[in-house]
Amino acid sequence: MRIVLLGAPGSGKGTQADKLSAKYRIPHVSTGDQLREALASGTPLGLQAKAAMDAGQLVSDEIVLGIIRERLRAADARNGAILDGFPRNLAQAQVLDDMLRALGQPLDCAVLLDVDFDVLLQRLAGRRTCENCGATYNIYTNPPRLDDQCDRCGAPLHHRPDDNEVTISNRLRVYELQTKPLFAFYRNQGKLETVNGTGEVDDIFRRLVAVLDPIAKGLRKPKPPVPPARPVRSAVKATAAKPAKPVPKKPVVKPVKSKPKPAGKPAHAKARPAKDAKRPAKKSRTHR
Ligand SMILES: [Zn+2]
Repeated sequence: MRIVLLGAPGSGKGTQADKLSAKYRIPHVSTGDQLREALASGTPLGLQAKAAMDAGQLVSDEIVLGIIRERLRAADARNGAILDGFPRNLAQAQVLDDMLRALGQPLDCAVLLDVDFDVLLQRLAGRRTCENCGATYNIYTNPPRLDDQCDRCGAPLHHRPDDNEVTISNRLRVYELQTKPLFAFYRNQGKLETVNGTGEVDDIFRRLVAVLDPIAKGLRKPKPPVPPARPVRSAVKATAAKPAKPVPKKPVVKPVKSKPKPAGKPAHAKARPAKDAKRPAKKSRTHR
């Protein structure tokens, strides 16, 4: 099972990715971790990444993609992987798709861990870390027993200077802007699943498992791009929009008693495939 885990900073996707990795025995491929590892081990791609960073530039998509490709070729990723941290925008999603197709490892599902803006803000602004032992806390959701003091080692807790609300909301807004088109991209492929990312870690995990289990067991292929509940309504709308086409074919074959009743339903059913193909364009015209 190959999945992409999507979620804003503070959505908790790193934590959930680790839990999913343990449950389904597929590696959690975090772009950040892979990059750090490549830098540390001095692989050719790692050296390229280092050169870019030393020059004060962002590491290019090409390099990041190369690092992911190498990771996915490893033996432990043969049965799947959980991608975390990539893609972050539409262009990246497209190149990732191409790469996975070339590897013969297409994506099964993109899971969005959905958390409200205010909750994200609180989670991120409440973060405290112990610089001594690395323990992390959140003054709202997971406070230390004593204010600003580490439970484990007693060292003073640290509040990162870029963890203030203004910086955080800017970060979240940038994230939102860049990732929105991604959701549509995966939705159009019938691969997007949205899971409520609010609440206890274990509850969120259960929701994820409920969505992913059928995919892991091969019981479910990606959904068809059009959600099953809507075609009925849209078919009606589409027929209404079309200038009434008098049913052209007379059922000549069967001499039925009720010949003059051109039932609407068969016509709908027959026309549906074509309409489905047209739907996305139509939708964007009428709704957006
Ligand atoms: Zn500590």
